[in-house]
Amino acid sequence: MTNERITIIYDNRSSREDLQPGWGFSALVEHGGKRLLFDSGGDKIVLEANASALGIDLKSTDYLFFSHEHCDHVGAASSALHKGLTVVYPASFSQPFKKKVEAAHARSIQVTKPIEFLPGFLSTGELGSTILEQSLIIRTASGPVLITGCAHPGIVEIARVATDLAGEPLRLVLGGFHLGTTSTDKVRKIAASLQALGVRQVGPCHCTGESAIRILQQEFGPDGLEVMAGTQIPL
Ligand SMILES: [Zn+2]
Ligand SMILES: [Zn+2]
Repeated sequence: MTNERITIIYDNRSSREDLQPGWGFSALVEHGGKRLLFDSGGDKIVLEANASALGIDLKSTDYLFFSHEHCDHVGAASSALHKGLTVVYPASFSQPFKKKVEAAHARSIQVTKPIEFLPGFLSTGELGSTILEQSLIIRTASGPVLITGCAHPGIVEIARVATDLAGEPLRLVLGGFHLGTTSTDKVRKIAASLQALGVRQVGPCHCTGESAIRILQQEFGPDGLEVMAGTQIPL
């Protein structure tokens, strides 16, 4: 299949001068003939400008997957909603959000438990106790790929659940790991726990924190990927 890849549209950091950095996260997954947008980032202007610079038509997506209802992940939702779209989001999302999806004439899949909502695309289900968040698992020929928004339920816990659901070790864990205030020792332990689960590659970005990103890259060596707006990862 051609164009099997993940493209980071929106991130705290940017790899190209024509792409704006912004606090938030959004990525396009092209896999199995489907185009899925993971989160929308926070600012419509940044999302639209970056998508346009990357040649991505936000109105031609098939699925829109939201990890959790924080403004840096859903703030630009209205730029990404369109008729014919299926929006996959935690059932705990607010009524105003659900109304917005309805008003755009998009279909809703409200997630509580783990679900394969499309062949090859699974949700971990809502995880966490205070901030409920779902993460995305994509089955690929080279192993399952996990994408997280902010990883509020804990990156190791999410990876553990995803590994169980996928039934095999994860090839890549990508997204916000939320380790901005985590000590060096604890980040090293997290890297070791991910490696113990069999995680081959990590792509920490967004809210992971600069220092945690460096430590994870040290621990994973060349399998600690540099991920920011403009990064493309073949699937
Ligand atoms: Zn975030
Ligand atoms: Zn968040």
